[in-house]
Amino acid sequence: MTALAAIVPRHSGTEDSDALARRLSAAAASLDLFERVAAARAAIDGPLVFTTSFGLEDQAIGHAILSQNLEIDLVTLDTGRLFAETHDVWAETERRYGKHIRAVAPERTALESLVDAQGANGFRASVAARQACCHVRKVEPLNRALAGAAGWVTGLRADQSQHRAEVSFAEFDSARGLIKINPLYDWSRERAVAFTREHNVPVNTLHAQGFLSIGCAPCTRAVAPGEPERAGRWWWEDEGKTECGLHANPLHLAARKVLEESALESAKS
Ligand code: SF4
Repeated sequence: MTALAAIVPRHSGTEDSDALARRLSAAAASLDLFERVAAARAAIDGPLVFTTSFGLEDQAIGHAILSQNLEIDLVTLDTGRLFAETHDVWAETERRYGKHIRAVAPERTALESLVDAQGANGFRASVAARQACCHVRKVEPLNRALAGAAGWVTGLRADQSQHRAEVSFAEFDSARGLIKINPLYDWSRERAVAFTREHNVPVNTLHAQGFLSIGCAPCTRAVAPGEPERAGRWWWEDEGKTECGLHANPLHLAARKVLEESALESAKS
């Protein structure tokens, strides 16, 4: 930790969050995964939350956090529609590391209203219906999971999709008022696989059946060799929409809406 503290000194109190995120990002390239999560923990004042879906990347990061006993809160969004295999690897992870992983569930009345309005699988009716389901089951619980956090650790990799191509190690999320930490930003899937094997990390058994990115059961399928990694998520929608909203910055979404409306107005005139 002494060497790390020299590379990434603790947040000074006068330094703004943007500057701290840039400093962390500049240091990350020379750090391994264990050092990256430790550096984030050491440099950021206040609570850090790691949201895990128990997928390959999250299991690698979870290992780096739990095996070093870092003070980072592990949270999972229990949407109510997860695979049984996901519950199995969740339980196996708790056994392996002797740690409890906190579950955040959808708000009961919002969930009941959603299912009343949509039916059990109403999310397939339209993109808007799917986003409404993701909002109730994932986004709103995420907001609660991150309440009061100074940092949010995620398993995003830049090469997962076009949406994620700009991901860096640390970025200030101004909408949430926290620093988002992506310790695997520059990793390939193969590197994550090799890491979990090397460290004997439990992984979801669905990965071996062609499920690369694993979310809710009704919205995830296996992908064929050569298909993009996230092709198995919401496959009935356009590729450009295959995100659930967890990683959308509300300010960016608002800006995009203004640009789209302005483009529409220009086209009309
Ligand atoms: S992934 Fe599917 S089931 Fe899960 S919250 Fe989104 S729409 Fe609902």
